[in-house]
Amino acid sequence: MKLAIKKLEPWQNPNEEPYISIENISKNFGNFPAVVDFNLEIYKGEFFSLLGGSGCGKSTLLRMLAGFEQPTSGKIYIDGMDMTNIPPYERPVNMMFQSYALFPHMTVEQNVAFGLKQENMAKSEIKDRVYDLLDLVELKAFAKRKPNQLSGGQRQRTALARSLAKQPKVLLLDEPLAALDKKLRDKTQFELVNIQEEVGVTFIMVTHDQEEAMTMSTRVGVMEQGRIRQVGAPREVYEYPNSRFSAEFIGSINLFDGLVVEEERDHALVRDEENDCTLYISHSASVPLGSQATVAIRPEKVTITKTPPKTDRNFTKGEVEEIAYLGDVSIYHVRLKSGKLVMATVPNLQRGAALPIEWEEEVYLKWNSNSGIILTA
Ligand code: ATP
Repeated sequence: MKLAIKKLEPWQNPNEEPYISIENISKNFGNFPAVVDFNLEIYKGEFFSLLGGSGCGKSTLLRMLAGFEQPTSGKIYIDGMDMTNIPPYERPVNMMFQSYALFPHMTVEQNVAFGLKQENMAKSEIKDRVYDLLDLVELKAFAKRKPNQLSGGQRQRTALARSLAKQPKVLLLDEPLAALDKKLRDKTQFELVNIQEEVGVTFIMVTHDQEEAMTMSTRVGVMEQGRIRQVGAPREVYEYPNSRFSAEFIGSINLFDGLVVEEERDHALVRDEENDCTLYISHSASVPLGSQATVAIRPEKVTITKTPPKTDRNFTKGEVEEIAYLGDVSIYHVRLKSGKLVMATVPNLQRGAALPIEWEEEVYLKWNSNSGIILTA
């Protein structure tokens, strides 16, 4: 019998060479450190997202990859080549700007052909390439229109086709969906992923929208104040945040601070005196006995009941302060005696209220021993 061997993702495979290596990159603007000793490896064909709040240095990093900005120190390698002395136009990268920067007086076709004409490519070859790209982004029927005759989504797709025209090895995308409304953005996310898979170009996207990053990326890099805090596949970063920052930045989370009162190979016990709550975590966390620790629990892993649980751990008690109905789920905000607010997300499986629980009712919130994560950084 043949055993199925799970294909390793490139970043899990020690034999795989990174396609892009960012090594000890720092960038200061005067005295201000915008990017600080930044290290990251990205693999061929990845859709990598740099995720972080405003001013954390995402765009500066992207601009250094494109060559529009010189690092203060450190090196960037793309496909084994040191980029230090390579000007932007000679780098194997292209950048798609948030504003799209389309030429308003040119048609869709002319916009996409622009870079190829600059390279003196033969007319017939340009036409073939442009129409292949318009086919890819489903804009063939709009080839003769000008940007002001297009919808926001069509403009975005024109910009994408134009930035792929010169067949870059790496495409840098600065908030590519920011100009679209919510519904169109959701649809475009999938389109963009499909196109990326089809062309096989490595995409590096900058965004502050965590949902967008989670939906589209092979891996996400969470940034804070010019530094990278965590790198991982979306599920990994969501389920196993390594720090308070990562946990709070991606999705909603409940955090309990306490003292490590037991630390074994297969579990840890944290006592949160302030909230009168004992948390049993079924994984070791390499946190010393007696030290302070933060335990993170996602709201969808918390269940809510009116009957007291028959256990002395992994539950807490409070009063329902708010019920937010979001259509597919309801979020219960429960205020503990200590004043702390804990959230529980409950799916709305039937029409009407998710649970027979009302405002101001006293409830118990409980979770499993594999739901909590001890944050180590
Ligand atoms: P946003 O999501 O708001 O665009 P960002 O993460 O992309 O934020 P950057 O544009 O990389 O942030 O800027 C990082 C920091 O560096 C900010 O504090 C910004 O004010 C500063 N900065 C960026 N460019 C310059 C510059 N040319 N001169 C001085 N400071 C700059």
